[in-house]
Amino acid sequence: MSETTNHGSVRDRSREDIYDLILESGGMTRSELAEATGISRSAVTSAVGRLIREGRAVESEPDSKGPGSGSGRPANRITAVASGLPVAAMDFGHNHVWVAVADSLGNALGDSLTVIDVDYNATEAMDLAAAALDALRHEHGITTISNVVCGIPGPVDARTGLVKSPTILSSWVGLSPAQELGHRLGAPVHIENDAVLGAHGELRLGAGRHHKDFLYIKASHGIGAGIVIGGKPFTGSTGIAGEIGHTQLPNNTELCRCGKRGCLETVVSVQSMRKQLQHTHPHLDVTQLDLSTLDDAISARMLNEAGRTIGRVLADLCNLINPGAIIIGGELGASGEALIDGVRSSVHRYAQPATAAALEISAAELGTRAELTGALQLAAWRAQR
Ligand SMILES: [Zn+2]
Repeated sequence: MSETTNHGSVRDRSREDIYDLILESGGMTRSELAEATGISRSAVTSAVGRLIREGRAVESEPDSKGPGSGSGRPANRITAVASGLPVAAMDFGHNHVWVAVADSLGNALGDSLTVIDVDYNATEAMDLAAAALDALRHEHGITTISNVVCGIPGPVDARTGLVKSPTILSSWVGLSPAQELGHRLGAPVHIENDAVLGAHGELRLGAGRHHKDFLYIKASHGIGAGIVIGGKPFTGSTGIAGEIGHTQLPNNTELCRCGKRGCLETVVSVQSMRKQLQHTHPHLDVTQLDLSTLDDAISARMLNEAGRTIGRVLADLCNLINPGAIIIGGELGASGEALIDGVRSSVHRYAQPATAAALEISAAELGTRAELTGALQLAAWRAQR
């Protein structure tokens, strides 16, 4: 192999690294690119020039408050161009399916939410989701999509793509949602656990973007964790890491849907909150109640207590992986400060002080859209490869 070819491939690799950074960051200046990659400024300039000539990137006007170029004049930002096919996402909750379409860079174009009982009707849920996505594509004039990323609220075996647990999402067990949905949609479908997608969303566009190591907790009808280590979601040897909703709480004997007794989810979930509210707020219709609309002292106390219970489990995880942030998503994460404060107090009480000291604990910046946003971002990333 000649030396020229070697140099050529190194240059190609550098250019692709730079392109990945532009894509993932949503735009960077040449100086920032040089700093982030360790590639010389002149090589960055040449790679960026080629990306622009190829139509894969554009140079955009600087922010007035953007970083300077060294001469005092703000530097132009290089951003990626959405030239590929649009992508799509699906987020199956325990009682909804939310579908969305985005351009090839993952910028959302539109979405629609349908209420269904996902747990017990896997086939019907997938039919409805496919129909909702078809309608959305039609509305946006999209004929072909490059790929779809779909989040489901249960463990997915990364080796087989099958839904794993025999008792969670019972009607989905043994199905291959990627194949089932792929047939219905006529596009490749990637299935991912919803908490992992929430982590991905917050990592790219939310509270996780300033952290390399953090825990994203989807606290909704179940409780799951998306673990980010070294800037990448960590899913374990078979893809099912983060099932923290089935951590046993001491002195709790309530039967869980997983078949065990005393799991975190039996004490803290949207359903258990609604059940408690039925007693404390008999005048409220709690069946579809949005917890973020509650603003009285009794509800705040209940949500704070729920946060403390979650925080007790998270404290042990903090000792284990020393995250820089804990980001609480799902409907419970979006319920307000009372729950987040509860998480904070337990983590500070039970985690090692040195671990808890520098830890940021907050609600998901993307709120209940974290999973859908993460799915669109992941679909865009997959479309580039
Ligand atoms: Zn359980």
